Amino acid sequence: MRILTIVGARPQFIKAAEVGRALAAAGLEEILVHTGQHFDAAMSDVFFADLCMPPPAHNLYIHGGGNASMTGRMLQALEPLLDREKPDWVLVYGDTNSTLAGALAAAHRGIPVAHVEAGLRSFNRAMPEELNRVMTDHLSTLLLCPTPAAVANLQREGIAAGVYHVGDVMYASALSLAGRARRTSTVLDRLGVHDSGFSLATVHRAENTNDSGRLASILAYLRDAAAEEKVPIILPLHPRTRDAAARFGLDLGGLTVLAPVGALDMARLLAGCTRVFTDSGGVQKEAYFHGKPCITLRDETEWVETIENGWNRLWRGPGYRPRRPIADYGDGQAASRIAALLAGGAG
Ligand code: UDP
Repeated sequence: MRILTIVGARPQFIKAAEVGRALAAAGLEEILVHTGQHFDAAMSDVFFADLCMPPPAHNLYIHGGGNASMTGRMLQALEPLLDREKPDWVLVYGDTNSTLAGALAAAHRGIPVAHVEAGLRSFNRAMPEELNRVMTDHLSTLLLCPTPAAVANLQREGIAAGVYHVGDVMYASALSLAGRARRTSTVLDRLGVHDSGFSLATVHRAENTNDSGRLASILAYLRDAAAEEKVPIILPLHPRTRDAAARFGLDLGGLTVLAPVGALDMARLLAGCTRVFTDSGGVQKEAYFHGKPCITLRDETEWVETIENGWNRLWRGPGYRPRRPIADYGDGQAASRIAALLAGGAG
């Protein structure tokens, strides 16, 4: 059984590292393909090192351009690659252009697609991520859902066959990274902060970075929160946000801005902070895995259970609901369940 995994962006490296280990343990052969969507040392190489991932078997070096152009170029490069590799499954993650290109190229070639993080919906079609995830789900044979809410979303769209609630693959990786990060990461010393002495923020979604007024409001909101809490807000800045702030001439003063950090430094920052501000899907969940309250810098979230159970709230929404543990993400065994489903020829 040959599984061809397609990754291209930071959150996909994290999930694929966890699932890759489970595939190997189940005796499945994995061919790792990097589309090149995230390509530099801080957004790609550091994750392969921190997560002890083998280098990809193929790198397509495709990045930049608009969403349609990037997806199109990936499709063009993937088609001959799939013909050469002849995998039994194509495995894709999340909601990026790499996800959709991988799923569509495989579907064109009649190769079954397994989608990790299937069924998530923001119900906001203005987001490129929403278009990517909806289309990928409709092309997939095996839909690997992190939560019961994701299963229900698929049912509403008429997708019932091949749907499994496996739990969240980031749960186990967050916990194991946290242990390693406490032993090895020096990020707190480098920044001159100590445990419980700072908040952590990330901002990178196109909906927040494409609009100068909106990005300015978010930066002002973070600055006000830092002043109010009297603790620094540490903001590892995604290249897209850094470029947008420079283009719009926005002031980053009052925030501790740094280059994006690797998985281990990020886990250490999550473990040490008091509060998380983010527009990232993954970071909303990681805040919960680390027991930290989150404020989501968006007008909706796919991770509705973080809100329902009082760990998260929207920056312009109502306050926190009463706090309860979240059962929906499962028991940390999502990766081995995914491997077992692929090995069993599920779907
Ligand atoms: N992350 C990281 N360094 C950073 C910012 C984020 O390692 O400087 C990690 C984060 O912990 C999470 C993943 O990247 O595991 C989330 O990726 P991102 O926010 O880019 O994408 P999303 O989850 O929104 O798809």
